[in-house]
Amino acid sequence: MKKPDVIIIGGGAAGLFCAFTAAQRGQSVLVLDSSNKVGKKILMSGGGRCNFTNLDITPENYLCNNPHFCISALNRYNQWQFIELVESHGIAYHERKHGELFCDESAKDILAMLLEECQQAGVVIKTKCEIKSVKAADPASEAPSGYSLQTSTGPYHCKSLVIATGGLSIPTMGASGFGYEIAEQFGLSLLPRTAGLVPFTFSDGIKQISETLSGLAVDVEMSVNGISFRENMLFTHRGISGPAALQLSSYWKPGQAIGVNLLPDENAAELLLGYKKTSAKSLLRNLLSQHLSKGLVLALQTLHWPKYAETAMAEIPDAQLLAVAQQLADWQLKPSGTEGYRTAEVTLCGVDTDQLSSKTMECKTQPGLYFVGEVVDVTGHLGGYNFQWAWASGYAAGQYV
Ligand SMILES: Cc1cc2nc3c(=O)[nH]c(=O)nc-3n(C[C@H](O)[C@H](O)[C@H](O)COP(=O)(O)OP(=O)(O)OC[C@H]3O[C@@H](n4cnc5c(N)ncnc54)[C@H](O)[C@@H]3O)c2cc1C
Repeated sequence: MKKPDVIIIGGGAAGLFCAFTAAQRGQSVLVLDSSNKVGKKILMSGGGRCNFTNLDITPENYLCNNPHFCISALNRYNQWQFIELVESHGIAYHERKHGELFCDESAKDILAMLLEECQQAGVVIKTKCEIKSVKAADPASEAPSGYSLQTSTGPYHCKSLVIATGGLSIPTMGASGFGYEIAEQFGLSLLPRTAGLVPFTFSDGIKQISETLSGLAVDVEMSVNGISFRENMLFTHRGISGPAALQLSSYWKPGQAIGVNLLPDENAAELLLGYKKTSAKSLLRNLLSQHLSKGLVLALQTLHWPKYAETAMAEIPDAQLLAVAQQLADWQLKPSGTEGYRTAEVTLCGVDTDQLSSKTMECKTQPGLYFVGEVVDVTGHLGGYNFQWAWASGYAAGQYV
């Protein structure tokens, strides 16, 4: 039986980071992954360029049942330390909007960097390894502490076991519920998981409008439950996506309507009443086409002012213009659902942080068992925040395993 000090189940962002951090401290570390390749999500991230961190990381960029939980790890391994690591490997990168950092070349550079760090520190990685069972050692046995694993590549024993199996999104990339099963096995509670950073779908008239306008991006402010994001909204064949919708999806609950301000830089009521004075003979759609695409204005006209489609502004009653302005400033859309884990970037909720040490990620009730990365109930906004959590939580555990 092989007996490394540390076994990490899951060779994704958090698992690999934890692996070399622990190995650099002199621990012998084995990473076991069920996929044929480690780090698959890193490779597909950020459209192939990996949005590996963000210049502006605050706890407010994360959703968690305990909003303070992430602070300690994010402070101890911050974005500047990751940027320094990236620079030390000569990886060229650039900033896009909102402080998001992406590789100039390819996400492959980030995975290659993690694997190089692992190799230099002596980490052993085994892929295509199916974990059949995990047991806490029997105090009366030959190895009285730690964890015993039965796997498709043989039995193992370790002192510390790190679960880094990620969330449920993109099952075709190796995602599994394994980490949650292990949490349950050891009596940890789970918070109900749902897909996050995911496009909205519709079954009402918006479905048809989205199909017609597919490919159109609009700068909007989108809100739900008192949270708003000013970003692009993208109409697609399946519904509404784009950064605004993805961000908002993490806060949306089934059955709720979302509000879309299509003119976030204008006071819509003042704009329309002003046009009534300055452009009395014009049609509303022609005036609005100076602010929004023609296709969208035509769709809005059918929904909100069909009776006045051919009426000059001067003839449209103020009350009607104010009603249209209300629709432009707070268009209420009711998604029928989301695209789910098939396309979601993350899984919301997961292992309840009340049962983990925020300093080490170790279970409070199960010594030697650690959870890191997305399997934990910490979910970042879109923009590099999820990887920063993976690096930081992996580092936190890597310091103690
Ligand atoms: C399309 C897409 C794009 C994204 N882009 C970005 C981005 O640009 N920036 C950003 O910050 N975040 C992005 N994310 C989110 C980010 O990829 C995740 O938050 C991050 O990868 C989580 O790291 P992790 O190590 O916890 O899990 P993962 O990286 O998912 O790694 C989990 C590992 O565990 C393995 N595993 C699973 N089950 C088992 C099992 N039973 N036995 C053994 N091994 C197992 C998997 O094969 C995998 O290697 C993106 C996500 C997706 C889906």
